[in-house]
Amino acid sequence: LLDVENVWKHFGDHSVLRGVDLTVESHQVVCLIGASGSGKSTLLRCVNLLETVDDGAIHLDGEEITAVRADPDDVRKRIGMVFQAFNLFPHMTVLDNICLAPRKVHRVSRAKAEARARELLARFGLAGKADAYPDRLSGGQQQRVAIIRALAPGPRLMLLDEVTSALDPTLVSEVLNIIRELKEGGMTMVLATHEMAFAREIADTVGFLHNGVLLEHGPPEVIFTEPAHPETRAFLSRTL
Ligand code: ATP
Ligand code: MG
Repeated sequence: LLDVENVWKHFGDHSVLRGVDLTVESHQVVCLIGASGSGKSTLLRCVNLLETVDDGAIHLDGEEITAVRADPDDVRKRIGMVFQAFNLFPHMTVLDNICLAPRKVHRVSRAKAEARARELLARFGLAGKADAYPDRLSGGQQQRVAIIRALAPGPRLMLLDEVTSALDPTLVSEVLNIIRELKEGGMTMVLATHEMAFAREIADTVGFLHNGVLLEHGPPEVIFTEPAHPETRAFLSRTL
């Protein structure tokens, strides 16, 4: 589904991604781990075309989305992204937040967009919050709404960047539960996370980024118990 090939990204003379290769199959969950500043967010942002790549290519469904002629709006219709800070629009209700992209970008009718939004809210235990404003929701609820908003247009791929890091620890599990449900539903996802136990549980593949290099990737059993690189071992011993 997603193919990242030899991607390089520089900010000034700082190389933040240095030849990253990553393949994500349909229905697979890939977790990116690595120290702060290792390039996890930058990699996700490159996939969503929020950053341009300086070298290499990214393919989605066989189409090169990093080609100059690719339309970023069209690409973002197929990719849902959720950030650490929930970024809900404060002046809009939960329902309107969720319906915004389907209506404005995908030209779905209000009735259809709202029906789908209510269905998603019900599925994720937030049916009663449709008409609430974001400031009336807990952090965990806001982040669940942000995930639902990203799901509403029906993306092929979800990119989740540290979606639990800004949350009070007691609220983390409700957001992780949504991600578990998405995996059960077969959603293809790439997650950047500092939640090692969760990565170990949910990932089909774990990739370890170190100074912009994907040093190793493989099944969680291997990465977490017998990593090949001393840098991976050092990182894990600091975080586990
Ligand atoms: P964290 O775990 O803290 O979220 P990360 O792995 O997501 O870290 P990135 O946010 O991808 O790391 O950042 C990688 C490097 O790129 C950092 O050194 C950061 O300072 C740098 N960087 C990111 N965005 C920019 C930018 N727009 N301009 C300049 N430097 C940037
Ligand atoms: Mg980050």
